[in-house]
Amino acid sequence: MTPNPALGAHLQPFSGITTFMRQTPTRDLNGVDVAIVGIPFDSGTSYRSGTRFGPRKIREASLMLWGHNPILHVSPLDKLNLVDYGDVEVIPVDIRATMENVTREVGEILAQDVTVIALGGDHSLALPLLRAHAAKHGPLAVVHFDSHPDMWNREFGEAFPYSHGTPFIRAVEEGLIDRDAYLQIGIRGPVSAPDDYADAIRAGAEMIPIGEAFEMGTQAIIERIHAKMGNRKVYVTLDIDATDPAYAPGTGTPEVGGFTSFQMLQMVRGLKGLNLVGFDLVEVNPQYDHGDITALLAANLVFEFLSLLAM
Ligand code: MN
Ligand code: MN
Repeated sequence: MTPNPALGAHLQPFSGITTFMRQTPTRDLNGVDVAIVGIPFDSGTSYRSGTRFGPRKIREASLMLWGHNPILHVSPLDKLNLVDYGDVEVIPVDIRATMENVTREVGEILAQDVTVIALGGDHSLALPLLRAHAAKHGPLAVVHFDSHPDMWNREFGEAFPYSHGTPFIRAVEEGLIDRDAYLQIGIRGPVSAPDDYADAIRAGAEMIPIGEAFEMGTQAIIERIHAKMGNRKVYVTLDIDATDPAYAPGTGTPEVGGFTSFQMLQMVRGLKGLNLVGFDLVEVNPQYDHGDITALLAANLVFEFLSLLAM
């Protein structure tokens, strides 16, 4: 598309109007390859809310991204027509209505053969995102970076099946995830009951807890991911709290003893060669961030994923 000078493509990172990497904000998806879709919703949060401010802050941090990836040797914006779709219509007081909006709007984007990169928002959004992607692709292989399994059956009693602690048990129940190819990476921290991890594993997740992850090293994790996913269609869901809070303090439910930002970048780069169909990056909470380091990491992780799509 023709560069719009108002977006400041000819200017400095601190100048111009904020869209993701200064790409055109539009709902016209004709000829578009990838759409950045914000979902500023945090009412699925059980502890510290504020991820509704995540998409805007990640967009702002993205203005520091220059166009070439020297590790993967690709300039994604030269290869892909990327646009900024803006944000899904969220209703902060209604998680069900918001989830319906996410599934519908993202479904409409996918129907135009556009790949969606979703910026959260809290992790409850993975469920409507998986609904939209599975409607197009069938049950999905899933790579899930997180410090939490997010596979509680209920966080707040029978009447409330949806929260950011439950999306993946719901997704398994609904048949959205291929249980032969669901991998959780980085799980750690105190849990509410001895069986928390066992419940998640019984429901279909293969888990690489953080201790095992550090013993293996990132290269072996990457090999495990590829062995598990094979040539299936892969959806990647990345909860920024997989990262150590020393590197990503801006999140609602931090757990100490996690990955460094470099390891996170390495693991996303390591997804190279998989049949990637979708990506979300969730749980960035600018209100608890320091110096925007969490948002900056998030923007860079999106850039790595974009680079993979361009290869
Ligand atoms: Mn988490
Ligand atoms: Mn999560």
